[in-house]
Amino acid sequence: MKLDVAQAIRQPGTAFPFRAEQAIAPQEIYGDPVTFDPAVMEGTYRAQEDGTVTVTGRLSVTAHAKCANCLRPAQAEVSAGFEEDFLFGGDPEDDEVFVYSGSAIELDRLALTYAMLNLPMRFLCSADCPGLQEYVADDKTVSLCQKELPGQHPFAALQRLLTEEESAQADDGTA
Ligand SMILES: [Zn+2]
Repeated sequence: MKLDVAQAIRQPGTAFPFRAEQAIAPQEIYGDPVTFDPAVMEGTYRAQEDGTVTVTGRLSVTAHAKCANCLRPAQAEVSAGFEEDFLFGGDPEDDEVFVYSGSAIELDRLALTYAMLNLPMRFLCSADCPGLQEYVADDKTVSLCQKELPGQHPFAALQRLLTEEESAQADDGTA
Protein backbone atom coordinates (compact mmCIF):
# COMPACT_ATOMS: atom_id res chain seq x y z
CA MET A 1 0.00 0.00 0.00
CA LYS A 2 1.19 3.50 -0.80
CA LEU A 3 1.21 6.45 1.55
CA ASP A 4 0.60 9.77 -0.21
CA VAL A 5 2.97 12.20 1.48
CA ALA A 6 2.48 15.19 -0.83
CA GLN A 7 0.82 17.29 1.88
CA ALA A 8 3.53 16.44 4.41
CA ILE A 9 6.23 17.54 1.92
CA ARG A 10 4.44 20.88 1.52
CA GLN A 11 4.28 21.29 5.31
CA PRO A 12 7.62 20.07 6.72
CA GLY A 13 7.60 19.37 10.45
CA THR A 14 3.87 18.63 10.64
CA ALA A 15 2.90 15.09 11.65
CA PHE A 16 0.09 13.41 9.71
CA PRO A 17 -1.68 10.34 11.07
CA PHE A 18 -2.21 7.26 8.91
CA ARG A 19 -3.69 3.79 9.09
CA ALA A 20 -2.93 1.28 6.35
CA GLU A 21 -3.50 -2.38 5.55
CA GLN A 22 -0.49 -3.97 3.93
CA ALA A 23 -0.26 -7.44 2.40
CA ILE A 24 2.92 -9.37 3.23
CA ALA A 25 4.10 -12.03 0.78
CA PRO A 26 4.68 -15.60 2.08
CA GLN A 27 8.24 -16.22 3.26
CA GLU A 28 10.44 -19.21 4.06
CA ILE A 29 12.47 -19.62 7.23
CA TYR A 30 14.96 -22.52 7.04
CA GLY A 31 12.70 -24.11 4.43
CA ASP A 32 9.51 -23.78 6.46
CA PRO A 33 6.78 -21.57 4.97
CA VAL A 34 5.43 -18.62 6.96
CA THR A 35 2.33 -16.78 5.75
CA PHE A 36 0.75 -13.56 6.98
CA ASP A 37 -2.71 -12.09 7.30
CA PRO A 38 -2.93 -8.48 6.07
CA ALA A 39 -0.83 -6.31 8.38
CA VAL A 40 -2.29 -3.20 10.02
CA MET A 41 0.08 -0.23 10.23
CA GLU A 42 -0.86 2.80 12.30
CA GLY A 43 1.13 5.89 13.10
CA THR A 44 2.27 9.23 11.75
CA TYR A 45 4.53 10.52 8.99
CA ARG A 46 6.43 13.78 8.94
CA ALA A 47 8.59 15.38 6.27
CA GLN A 48 11.82 17.27 6.83
CA GLU A 49 13.03 20.25 4.79
CA ASP A 50 15.30 17.99 2.69
CA GLY A 51 12.42 15.74 1.66
CA THR A 52 13.22 12.89 4.06
CA VAL A 53 9.98 11.48 5.47
CA THR A 54 9.98 9.85 8.90
CA VAL A 55 7.32 7.16 9.36
CA THR A 56 6.60 6.20 12.97
CA GLY A 57 4.04 3.76 14.31
CA ARG A 58 3.13 0.18 15.10
CA LEU A 59 2.69 -2.89 12.92
CA SER A 60 0.23 -5.63 13.93
CA VAL A 61 -0.03 -8.87 11.99
CA THR A 62 -0.94 -12.52 12.48
CA ALA A 63 1.71 -14.94 11.18
CA HIS A 64 1.02 -18.61 10.35
CA ALA A 65 3.51 -21.48 10.35
CA LYS A 66 3.87 -25.08 11.54
CA CYS A 67 4.02 -25.81 15.27
CA ALA A 68 7.65 -26.54 16.23
CA ASN A 69 6.46 -29.38 18.48
CA CYS A 70 3.79 -31.27 16.53
CA LEU A 71 3.88 -29.75 13.00
CA ARG A 72 0.20 -28.82 13.15
CA PRO A 73 -0.80 -25.29 12.02
CA ALA A 74 0.17 -22.60 14.51
CA GLN A 75 -0.06 -18.85 14.53
CA ALA A 76 1.56 -15.93 16.32
CA GLU A 77 0.49 -12.34 16.88
CA VAL A 78 3.25 -9.92 15.93
CA SER A 79 3.15 -6.37 17.25
CA ALA A 80 6.13 -4.13 16.68
CA GLY A 81 6.87 -0.43 16.92
CA PHE A 82 8.81 1.14 14.04
CA GLU A 83 10.46 4.43 13.12
CA GLU A 84 12.18 4.73 9.76
CA ASP A 85 13.41 7.54 7.52
CA PHE A 86 12.50 7.34 3.84
CA LEU A 87 15.07 9.19 1.75
CA PHE A 88 13.79 11.05 -1.29
CA GLY A 89 15.25 9.83 -4.59
CA GLY A 90 17.55 7.21 -3.02
CA ASP A 91 18.60 4.00 -4.72
CA PRO A 92 15.68 1.50 -4.57
CA GLU A 93 18.21 -1.37 -4.84
CA ASP A 94 19.98 -0.30 -1.64
CA ASP A 95 18.86 -2.66 1.15
CA GLU A 96 20.41 -0.47 3.85
CA VAL A 97 17.95 2.41 3.55
CA PHE A 98 14.29 3.04 2.83
CA VAL A 99 13.71 5.31 -0.15
CA TYR A 100 10.83 6.82 -2.08
CA SER A 101 10.28 8.84 -5.22
CA GLY A 102 7.48 11.11 -6.39
CA SER A 103 5.12 11.83 -3.50
CA ALA A 104 4.19 8.31 -2.38
CA ILE A 105 5.87 5.96 0.09
CA GLU A 106 5.54 2.23 -0.54
CA LEU A 107 4.95 0.43 2.78
CA ASP A 108 5.55 -3.17 1.65
CA ARG A 109 9.24 -3.47 2.57
CA LEU A 110 8.72 -1.71 5.91
CA ALA A 111 5.94 -4.17 6.80
CA LEU A 112 7.92 -7.23 5.68
CA THR A 113 11.07 -6.11 7.52
CA TYR A 114 9.33 -5.53 10.86
CA ALA A 115 7.16 -8.63 10.61
CA MET A 116 10.19 -10.88 9.97
CA LEU A 117 12.31 -9.22 12.66
CA ASN A 118 9.63 -9.82 15.27
CA LEU A 119 8.57 -13.40 14.56
CA PRO A 120 8.76 -15.78 17.55
CA MET A 121 11.78 -18.09 17.73
CA ARG A 122 9.39 -21.06 17.57
CA PHE A 123 5.73 -21.27 16.60
CA LEU A 124 3.57 -23.31 18.99
CA CYS A 125 -0.01 -24.44 18.30
CA SER A 126 -0.83 -23.99 22.01
CA ALA A 127 1.01 -23.41 25.27
CA ASP A 128 0.45 -27.05 26.28
CA CYS A 129 1.18 -28.66 22.92
CA PRO A 130 1.53 -32.42 23.54
CA GLY A 131 4.41 -32.72 21.07
CA LEU A 132 5.06 -35.46 18.55
CA GLN A 133 3.79 -38.52 20.48
CA GLU A 134 1.14 -39.28 17.89
CA TYR A 135 3.88 -39.81 15.28
CA VAL A 136 5.48 -42.60 17.31
CA ALA A 137 4.95 -46.07 15.85
CA ASP A 138 2.52 -48.01 18.04
CA ASP A 139 5.03 -50.75 18.94
CA LYS A 140 7.53 -48.20 20.27
CA THR A 141 7.34 -46.28 23.51
CA VAL A 142 9.71 -43.49 22.57
CA SER A 143 8.64 -40.10 23.87
CA LEU A 144 9.29 -37.40 21.33
CA CYS A 145 7.95 -34.48 23.30
CA GLN A 146 10.01 -31.46 22.27
CA LYS A 147 9.92 -30.14 25.84
CA GLU A 148 12.34 -32.92 26.82
CA LEU A 149 14.79 -31.97 24.09
CA PRO A 150 15.81 -28.40 24.89
CA GLY A 151 18.12 -26.63 22.49
CA GLN A 152 17.57 -29.01 19.62
CA HIS A 153 16.19 -28.19 16.23
CA PRO A 154 12.38 -28.56 16.27
CA PHE A 155 12.51 -31.36 13.72
CA ALA A 156 15.51 -33.21 15.21
CA ALA A 157 13.31 -35.66 17.10
CA LEU A 158 11.26 -36.54 14.03
CA GLN A 159 14.40 -36.78 11.93
CA ARG A 160 15.99 -39.19 14.46
CA LEU A 161 12.89 -41.36 14.44
CA LEU A 162 12.97 -41.58 10.65
CA THR A 163 16.68 -42.46 10.70
CA GLU A 164 16.06 -45.18 13.28
CA GLU A 165 13.31 -46.66 11.14
CA GLU A 166 15.52 -46.62 8.07
CA SER A 167 18.38 -48.41 9.83
CA ALA A 168 15.93 -50.92 11.31
CA GLN A 169 14.67 -51.69 7.81
CA ALA A 170 18.27 -51.99 6.55
CA ASP A 171 19.03 -54.46 9.35
CA ASP A 172 16.01 -56.54 8.37
CA GLY A 173 17.22 -56.64 4.76
CA THR A 174 20.70 -57.92 5.56
CA ALA A 175 19.66 -60.41 8.25
ZN1 LIG B 1 1.77 -28.27 18.55
